[in-house]
Amino acid sequence: MSSISKPLLQWFDQHGRHSLPWQANYSTGDLQQSSGRSPQGGQGNPANIYHVWLSEIMLQQTQVSTVIDYFNNFIHHFPSLTALADASEDNVLAQWAGLGYYARARNLHKSAKIIMQDYQGVFPDNIEQVVALPGIGESTAGAILSISHNQNHAILDGNVKRVLSRYHQVKGHYGQAQTLKQLWVLAKQHTPNTRNNDYTQAIMDLGATLCTRSNPDCGRCPVQQGCQAYQHNTQAEYPNPKPKKNKPSRSIAMLIYQNKQGQIYLEKRPSKGIWGGLWSFVECKDSSQDIMRTIQQFDASAHINKMLKPIKHSFTHYHLIINPIIVDCLEQTHGFQSINQLKVGVPTPVNKILAQLD
Ligand code: SF4
Repeated sequence: MSSISKPLLQWFDQHGRHSLPWQANYSTGDLQQSSGRSPQGGQGNPANIYHVWLSEIMLQQTQVSTVIDYFNNFIHHFPSLTALADASEDNVLAQWAGLGYYARARNLHKSAKIIMQDYQGVFPDNIEQVVALPGIGESTAGAILSISHNQNHAILDGNVKRVLSRYHQVKGHYGQAQTLKQLWVLAKQHTPNTRNNDYTQAIMDLGATLCTRSNPDCGRCPVQQGCQAYQHNTQAEYPNPKPKKNKPSRSIAMLIYQNKQGQIYLEKRPSKGIWGGLWSFVECKDSSQDIMRTIQQFDASAHINKMLKPIKHSFTHYHLIINPIIVDCLEQTHGFQSINQLKVGVPTPVNKILAQLD
């Protein structure tokens, strides 16, 4: 075992997280119905691969504390892989709404259909087949098969990148190919042949609970003896920050068409592009000419009621400034919905606007 895996596994037995809803040994009534082959690893109740897969996708951009409620709700609505494959995309997106990065939900849904069709509803246990599913990279595939089947795979999620960057004082940002390659080599070197499932969970737990982004709790860290950043007091320098680039801003208008009954109009966005497949207000360029033209095309007798406060929403590569405008429609009724009866997934900024309308 390596200088990380041995002390880490000892620490995990005492201090790791063992009762997350998607882990082995955790059980509730309806969680038992899920589909997936019985794993070989772990003790007691084996981890259900459908639950592990779902949790790993949710955890890609989101912390455990946020994921737990979404996970339980999702499993309640789609208790098995079959139920997920049979659901409509709108329903899947509605249960995902608020977690963000909606491509993850669309890919989950697509993958469930592929598994039903190509693998007779059984989640594949071969890493090449898992990586070939939409939305699953090498690290996520490794984590799924390690945790559910105790297969021997390394992982390199955000937590592991942080731990290894500090432990070895790895230079460069992991967005750069050379640095990423070096981290993968280290991840593979430290991954043990035995108890692979526990190690995978343990190194994620270490990054999430002790080797945190700011103020790592080195005093309680099981691997502090070999940690270069701890030895040289350089924890704050690793991982090296991403080279700075100023994000550009883009401005749009969102038109909140409202009819006489107080209902609003939402349209389904194309499945490709931002917020793909979610429902949103009609949008246009933020110029008075474009706004008036778009309103006229929708309803010639409509008029602007008022402008709401702009909302800033940040994506990875740019900031979006949304100017919401309430537009009163006199004639239109088709396609309008009552706010308190909405059953579709909407993007976070649209949710914020809806809250202002209540
Ligand atoms: S000693 Fe500190 S910096 Fe090093 S791995 Fe542990 S928590 Fe992270």
